[in-house]
Amino acid sequence: MIVHQEVWAGRLWAARPLIVVEDSEERSLLWIPQGTRRKVPITPPHRLDPGDVHSRTIENLHHRDWVLGDHTWDVSSLWILTPDRWHSTWVSWRADGSHLGWYINLQRPMRRNVVGFEAMDLMLDVVVDPDLSWRWKDREEFDEIVRRGIFDREVADQVMSEALAVIDDLEGRHPPFDADWPSWRPDAEWALPSLPDGWNVVDD
Ligand SMILES: [Mg+2]
Repeated sequence: MIVHQEVWAGRLWAARPLIVVEDSEERSLLWIPQGTRRKVPITPPHRLDPGDVHSRTIENLHHRDWVLGDHTWDVSSLWILTPDRWHSTWVSWRADGSHLGWYINLQRPMRRNVVGFEAMDLMLDVVVDPDLSWRWKDREEFDEIVRRGIFDREVADQVMSEALAVIDDLEGRHPPFDADWPSWRPDAEWALPSLPDGWNVVDD
């Protein structure tokens, strides 16, 4: 089991435990089952909470004053990460085991550290249905973050070109979209992962 940390402005933004399925130089496969407890950024007590998750995220990034709260992961997912790429691909299942779809999560390239790895989420996502049709998610929020200068232009361009490259792979049925990942199943023996000691220690 390892910890995926997200770090923003030198502070821990989020943390979750994942089970290592495979870890090689070509790719890492990580499993996060429904019910896994994780840490997420929430509005600090001195500031009014905006009431919706998107505004909460944007204001926390802007003010850099978030605190960490508990959250329970709701969709069992297998993460496929490739070194140096600005995204991870998630394959997700409902509680009954049926395939929910895929998800392309734009994020910084993974940097390994003592507890696992760090890779900050970059807001923009692509939701992919089981039939491989796709749609943007959080495009407006991403544009707002760029407009406010929270992500600089270089990062914004990198995220968008990465997203378009993955969509090309998707439409061309290139890896990982050429394989039957929806038929993959976790080992029945695996317990829910939980955050180990040191989950909140941030590398410099
Ligand atoms: Mg995301």
